[in-house]
Amino acid sequence: MSKVSQKQQGKDLGLTLCPSCQQLSVYKKRHCSRCGSVLALRDDSSLQKSWALLITAAILLIPANIYPITIFTSQGQTRHDTIFTGITHLVDLNIIPIAIILFTASIAVPILKIVGLTIYLTAISFRLPISKKKLMIGFHIIEWIGRWSMLDLFVISITAALVNMGQLLDARPGPAATAFALVILLTQVAAKVLDTRLLWDRLESKDDSN
Ligand SMILES: [Zn+2]
Repeated sequence: MSKVSQKQQGKDLGLTLCPSCQQLSVYKKRHCSRCGSVLALRDDSSLQKSWALLITAAILLIPANIYPITIFTSQGQTRHDTIFTGITHLVDLNIIPIAIILFTASIAVPILKIVGLTIYLTAISFRLPISKKKLMIGFHIIEWIGRWSMLDLFVISITAALVNMGQLLDARPGPAATAFALVILLTQVAAKVLDTRLLWDRLESKDDSN
C-alpha cells in the first residue's frame, strides 16, 4: 500500500486539475470529463511565455514614460505631458490627491509588478531557495496590485471626458497611453499564463521552513 507523504504531489498519483473548471481528473483521460478541456500535468512552456511577456512589458515601459501620455489643447496652445511631467504639473497646481493616485498607478505599481514578477520567475527558473509559501503569497500580491494600474487609464479617460465637456480644452491620450496600456495588459497576462504548479516541482520542500 502506498503511503501519501507530504512531498507527494498530484502528478505522482496521476491526478491533475482541469485548467478551466478545476475538476480533479485522472491524467490518463487527457480531457476533462466535466468540460472537455485538454488536461496537462504541467505546462513547461508557460515559464518561457511568462518571461517573454514580462521582458516585452519592461521594454514598453520606456516609451510609456518618455512619450506624452496626454495632449491638452487650450486656446491654440498645446500641452504634451509625459507621466512624470503630468504628475509634477498636478503637484504645481496643488492637486495632490490626484497626483498621488497617478504616481501610484502609473509609476509605483507597474515598476513593483515588473520587479516582483522578475524575482518570482527568477526564483522558479534558477531554483532560488525561497519557500513555496512565500512565493505563493508574493504571486497573489503581484496579481492583486496589478489591477490598480487600470486606475491610471481610468483617471486619464475621466479627465479627458470632463475636460472635453467643458469645450474650453481639447484633451487626447498621447502615444504613451497605448504603450502604458500594453504594459498593464502584458504584465497581467504574464502572471496569468504562468503554470503555478511548476513551483511545486522546482523548489525543494526543505526550503519550506523559511
Ligand atoms: Zn474541466
